[in-house]
Amino acid sequence: MATKGKGGPPKLNQFMHPRNPYRTPPSFKKLATQYPEFRTHCTYDLSGKVRLDFKNCDALRALTTCLLDQDFGLKVDIPDGRLVPTLPLRLNYLLWIEDLMALTARIDHKCTRIGVDIGTGSACIYPLLAAKQFGWSMLCTEADEVNYASAVNNVKKNDMQDEIFIRKVQENTIFKHILDDKTNLSEIAALQAKEASVEEESLEKPQGSQDSPRKAEMELGKNEKKDMESSNYTFDFTMCNPPFFSSEDDTYTMNKSKKDRGEPVSVPTGAVQEIVTSGGEVSFITQMIEESSQLKDKVRIFTTLIGTKADIKKIKQVLATVSPAHSSLTEFCQGRTMRWGLAWTFDPKLHLNQVMSKKQMANSKPMVMLLPRSLLTAYTVPAAWRMVAKWLHYLKVKVRVFKNTKYFVGAHVKAYKPTWLHQRRKKREIDRRNKEKMHRTKESDDMEIVGEGETLCKSKLVESDEEHPDIMEYNMNQNEAHSIEEPVEKQQPQKRSKDECEGEDQEESSHERKKPKISSEELNQSANGSEEKPTPYQISSPNDSGIGNSPDKEICSSSDFLRQISEKLHKEKEEPHVPQAGGLECILRFNIHLKQAGGLISLELTYLGGSAGKNGLGQLLLFMRNQLTNPTI
Ligand code: SAH
Repeated sequence: MATKGKGGPPKLNQFMHPRNPYRTPPSFKKLATQYPEFRTHCTYDLSGKVRLDFKNCDALRALTTCLLDQDFGLKVDIPDGRLVPTLPLRLNYLLWIEDLMALTARIDHKCTRIGVDIGTGSACIYPLLAAKQFGWSMLCTEADEVNYASAVNNVKKNDMQDEIFIRKVQENTIFKHILDDKTNLSEIAALQAKEASVEEESLEKPQGSQDSPRKAEMELGKNEKKDMESSNYTFDFTMCNPPFFSSEDDTYTMNKSKKDRGEPVSVPTGAVQEIVTSGGEVSFITQMIEESSQLKDKVRIFTTLIGTKADIKKIKQVLATVSPAHSSLTEFCQGRTMRWGLAWTFDPKLHLNQVMSKKQMANSKPMVMLLPRSLLTAYTVPAAWRMVAKWLHYLKVKVRVFKNTKYFVGAHVKAYKPTWLHQRRKKREIDRRNKEKMHRTKESDDMEIVGEGETLCKSKLVESDEEHPDIMEYNMNQNEAHSIEEPVEKQQPQKRSKDECEGEDQEESSHERKKPKISSEELNQSANGSEEKPTPYQISSPNDSGIGNSPDKEICSSSDFLRQISEKLHKEKEEPHVPQAGGLECILRFNIHLKQAGGLISLELTYLGGSAGKNGLGQLLLFMRNQLTNPTI
């Protein structure tokens, strides 16, 4: 649910993009201390809290320019009377494009991206952030003389002329004569060639921050890139924040109608020529859509922002007339305003709908596993986190911890390969090798100790085990006769546990999949026919064990959970979303919350996106559950 601010409409910040830094509001106090030009617009209330007058354009301008400097190291001037861009919305739009680019990375091998920004405005806000934050190069257009001059100045000020090209255009054109202009194309071609050589160099010596998807792409995809297509598209995406209104009266009406949702918190900014266009945004976007169909071979993904909900239906109808291969609508939520993003492509391989809307993400219910006391030596969140962090490290995923306290750890995780799959198969392989090794050791011992008797022979084996932790592990697991992990086939080669058949080994051949399933009764029988003791996981009470229950969360008992996941996995004949040759794009993004409440520690995984889908997250949770009950790492 959205939270209600004092005397205003509900705040939508929780639906902001998960990577948007302004989900945590900036500290005005810090900003006022650091920037005198911001401080002049601040007042202090009785409790000493810093307040900003959101009805004052100059205060809004100071807020944006100071934040750009503080958070992105960007120096930006915005002329008086011109549109002041608000940063949470601009970042929501760019982060969504970053998600779309991750989809694109599945089918091409480019690590660098070239985008187009239509109507860049005086701040040149999108290209500056795109270049600085995401490393993209941008071609942008502007119809207004003042805005054009200011945008050029801002690019120079930040020394980004090599990444950002600005073109002054006529108001009646959008893409035409820009994306097929010879000069523009040759500049872009030169840029692409330069980027390609830099890319090659970086592949030799990967550099950059650990968190950067680009670095991960480089590290993980080096050998697999040859399987991907090289992009024929000149531009990876286009973006646009179009003039919304059809007349000045329109801007008045829109602000008035908003009063139904409470008094607008901040004053609208922007000159008439920036925010008004004949026919409003529907007409502007209609022209954009029509022109896009002429440029389908040059641009991979077209996108636009939509400012008014009522316009969405009309715009979608227009889009249908050019028959794009795929399209996707998302919502951008920030403060008390909502905007929408529309993306379309003529490339049939790009399933744009695989990028979830932020609202869907926020509504995505976590999968929850309660950690039983019996399985942890120290029942504290830090101890549990050490264990979870060890699993994540083993899985080679990227982890960004955003909160770490005594009772709560929150982390954002990105996976680039389905490393959690095939675990049982890998373990069986290790077990088999160890068995062979043991057998060989035994044979050689037998040869050496002929006549010395069985006792000596056994003691030699134990010595050998101690030198090989893998063998020790194998023996320990064997003693845990009731582990869910235990391969039933050890005793009954023709039968495999349900968990094993349906859960983790869905990559097995169809021949293996056709093997008869084991009934739940059979699952509860041990090899010698007696009733199996429950695993530690099963022994504990619902509140103390396995996967718990809570009304507002997607959780269930261990068997329900396994059944649900197994059913989902079984439905898919082949490994569904997980690209075998991939590794380039982030295939799974999720949040981990580890928390202690009511004496119990729970692990919550919330799906945020990625082609592995919720199934992928389910498989990963299965991996964690198996590690919990039967650790192998
Ligand atoms: N992108 C900026 C500005 C958006 S306002 C931001 O998000 O803050 C829309 C901008 O589009 C204005 O600067 C306006 O002058 C410009 N514009 C209007 N029609 C245009 C056209 N046909 N081509 C390029 N720019 C145009």
